[in-house]
Amino acid sequence: MTEPRIIQNPVELEALAGGCFVPTMGALHEGHLSLIREAARHQGPVITSIFVNPTQFAPNEDFDAYPRSLDRDVRLAGEAGTDVVYLPAESSLYPEGRAASRTTAAGLPIPNVAKHPQLEDAGRPHFFGGVCLVVARLLEQVRPSATVFGEKDWQQLQVIRAMIADDAKLDDIEVIPGPIVRESDGLAMSSRNAYIPPADRLRARGLSLALDAAEKATTPDEAETLMRATLEAHQLTVEYAVIRDPESLMPVTDLNRPTRAIITAGLDFEGGSVRLLDNRAMPLVR
Ligand code: AMP
Repeated sequence: MTEPRIIQNPVELEALAGGCFVPTMGALHEGHLSLIREAARHQGPVITSIFVNPTQFAPNEDFDAYPRSLDRDVRLAGEAGTDVVYLPAESSLYPEGRAASRTTAAGLPIPNVAKHPQLEDAGRPHFFGGVCLVVARLLEQVRPSATVFGEKDWQQLQVIRAMIADDAKLDDIEVIPGPIVRESDGLAMSSRNAYIPPADRLRARGLSLALDAAEKATTPDEAETLMRATLEAHQLTVEYAVIRDPESLMPVTDLNRPTRAIITAGLDFEGGSVRLLDNRAMPLVR
């Protein structure tokens, strides 16, 4: 196994155009590594980026505390099949500077699927502007033929698909979804799971158990009630627990079309809290 090449200067990426790109914020776990393995099944070099993106964090969020483990990440990314680890300098992605880049992100035209008032936008209104800005700039630098995004962040996957489809400079890039990788107890892997104190860890199972509970429902209302009850029984603070169309994320009217359960809930613990996300295909017609 050769070590992956590390690139910091985007000019060096030009020779790698046409590869398969996996953007990450580092603190890599099996979820990220599964996306890299998926990328390695496609033709061309695998480029994994590691960049903790300031524009997707609100000032009161965990940008400074976000886990960083670069040496380990580079080794794991290489073992999973990464040819090149791209470590962009903030000044190359945001030459306008951090404060101005936040303003750019806030004013960016983002796809409608990002704007549902009951989903991510409710708790994190800055988030998709920052994600769209950084992903568009990374894609313009890396120029891949394909890019892999995890289904764990289901709304983000739909937003990225829509953003790429709507942008004539990017619309030849294939978006490949990667299935959710879970801990043995069902908790979806996340770099932020490291924040959960061991004493509170059992409560985090509430999300996957809420999805299990919804499997018994035959209507969206019933599924949403069952999910909320399970989340609350685990002392989780429900942000949303809904049944939606998997692509538009609109409320469901036709139960014969595919439907998806999508959950975000807060786990508060002594001295902090963590937002946990999960989702699952949830057909209600049997
Ligand atoms: P992040 O580093 O959290 O920005 O995530 C980078 C990519 O990894 C995104 O496409 C995520 O959706 C994906 N990802 C994170 N956790 C998981 C997981 N448990 N299973 C699959 N993909 C994941």
